[in-house]
Amino acid sequence: MKNQWNEADTASLDPIDVLIYQARLIGSEPSLVLWGGGNSSLKVQEADFDGRPARVLRVKGSGSDMKSMKRADFPGVRLDDLLPLFERSDMSDKEMVAYTSHTMLQPDAPRPSIETLLHAFIPQAAVLHTHADAILMLTNTPSREVTVRACYGDDVIVIPYRRPGFALSKEVGAAVRANPGARGLVLLNHGLVTWGDDARTAYDRHVELVTRAEEFVGSKSKARGATAAQRGASSAARSGRAATAAPVLRGLLSAGKRVILRFDDSDDVMAFLDRPDARALSQVGAATPDHMLNTKRAALWLDVPATDDPAALRAAIAPQLDAYQRQSAQHRAAHFDPAVLTREEAATVSDFPRVILAPGIGMWTAGKDARATLVTAEIYHHTMAIMSAAASSQGGYASLGDRDAFDAEYWPLELYKLTLAPPEKSLSRRVALITGAANGIGRAIASHLAAAGAHVLVTDVDGNGARQVASEICSAQGIGRAVALSVDVTKEADVQCAFEHACLAYGGVDIVISNAGIARVSGLADLSLEDWNASLAVNATGHFLVSRAALRSMRAQGLGGSIVFNATKNVPAPGKDFGAYSAAKAAEAQLCRIVAIEGGGDGIRANMVNPDAIFESNLWSPAIRQARADAQGIDVSTIEDHYAQRNLLKARVTASDVAEAVLWLASDLSAKTTGAMIPVDGGLREAFPR
Ligand code: ZN
Repeated sequence: MKNQWNEADTASLDPIDVLIYQARLIGSEPSLVLWGGGNSSLKVQEADFDGRPARVLRVKGSGSDMKSMKRADFPGVRLDDLLPLFERSDMSDKEMVAYTSHTMLQPDAPRPSIETLLHAFIPQAAVLHTHADAILMLTNTPSREVTVRACYGDDVIVIPYRRPGFALSKEVGAAVRANPGARGLVLLNHGLVTWGDDARTAYDRHVELVTRAEEFVGSKSKARGATAAQRGASSAARSGRAATAAPVLRGLLSAGKRVILRFDDSDDVMAFLDRPDARALSQVGAATPDHMLNTKRAALWLDVPATDDPAALRAAIAPQLDAYQRQSAQHRAAHFDPAVLTREEAATVSDFPRVILAPGIGMWTAGKDARATLVTAEIYHHTMAIMSAAASSQGGYASLGDRDAFDAEYWPLELYKLTLAPPEKSLSRRVALITGAANGIGRAIASHLAAAGAHVLVTDVDGNGARQVASEICSAQGIGRAVALSVDVTKEADVQCAFEHACLAYGGVDIVISNAGIARVSGLADLSLEDWNASLAVNATGHFLVSRAALRSMRAQGLGGSIVFNATKNVPAPGKDFGAYSAAKAAEAQLCRIVAIEGGGDGIRANMVNPDAIFESNLWSPAIRQARADAQGIDVSTIEDHYAQRNLLKARVTASDVAEAVLWLASDLSAKTTGAMIPVDGGLREAFPR
């Protein structure tokens, strides 16, 4: 690997800023650390809260990410309080965490890394630790230490695998003190530690040792798999099979808690799946304990039959998933120790797989949200590279033993951390597809559902507008939480494609908001056939195409579903000049009731909202505002007030008001309601549903 340090960048920085610079260089290289992995530290002299001098260890905080480190991400701990612990013989994780919190310089700083003591016990000022792929390619082999020695000779210290904690920290500290001339320290099945008088020295040594490992393994020339040209046409066929199988798989994987399912058939996934030993490798175990928390010990190797029939897919997938779960439960039963772990803690680890490998199709990763599925996928890409390199050039791939693997996956400290996560929102783990979501009511619905925890497919005939809305949602709610698609609801192929996309991005759909609509305003005598047909195409046929695709996808998934139609107060109370609109919307309303009747047996609900006078909507173009003002004999500038005065509550009704009603219908709060019509119009006697 290339040494990226640029002396000119750091010449004028203070030592902590140099530490930040070093951490970001490390974090920017995914073959060294992934998603919060690794840590770095520096021992400095500082003044405490009362101005007294103190020896302080600045160490990466738990939960921060190397690539985006800031000063605040390096909490300070007092070395003079920590170092006496080196004399102790043992300490539990919980004692260690409690003790460390007493030594913090600023009590409100982030919790220091679980590997803080390892950093403290190494006497040198700067310490750097990563889970570099190239190191794992050496250590995750049948002859681990021999392989490491063959690469480095006696230049490094080698420490056998042990779960991070007090004992490992003490062992590392003692080894470094006894071997001050070593270039670094290799933790078997875990990673690399280097040190030095400053952050740069620790970095330089890290790069040197990783480069030597890369050269030893020959990873620079590692096969990159099939080229894009070789994949060619088969890629579309694979996506089609993946989109068909995903809702069935997601339905089965969601038997406990719903999951988001992400599909990935990139070149290195397909190259790995083509290896004759891929199935065996995928069952060996994780590359480092840190990865196991995301990927679990083994992937589910899943043979998916080439069929479009959801029942046949379910019949083929279910027994394979059952076998995986049984194996996972047996693994827990074999190693569970009530002295270490409560049954409740053990039960928080799911028996469902996080990584699913389907030969000929690709890889799925499952998790509670899009971020989790992305993290797991990225980690598994590295796992595949490590497994392939170790198997191809080092005589095999090996992981932790059963017992160590259990202790890493069921690490009480990590399970405890999960309990600190904020409670999930009402639509967490749900996927919603919304049509006409680039503006107005659709846009408000998309952001309301996303704020309630849903992953959303923002679809609109205006693709740029949809992308804008999706990117705003991702900024507000997190990575991968929205996807934009250009969809014309009058086109069968567009609608089909949107649902396939939902299956590839998230595994299926739980909520469909059939919202897209247009207005064509004219008295019947003057209405053109073109306008009549245009209104029917969007306001009636569009809803048919969307609800048909929704029913198929939800049935394949087997988790029920909620479909909400944006109708109009014109359904119960049509108005003059709205013939094309009202007639088509009446068809939509009747369609909604049929969906409720036909979907009920599968737990699929269908309801509608009837908004009135939502001036944020595109339906209210300047021309329509003028026409309606003229028809009412009022000035166009007073039209919003005029409409507000018509309703019982004298209220201006907004897109957000409509979105609140839709949110309720989409959520389980309305679990017993189907076939219903809810007005959101401020109260109009003539539009009361009856
Ligand atoms: Zn580590």
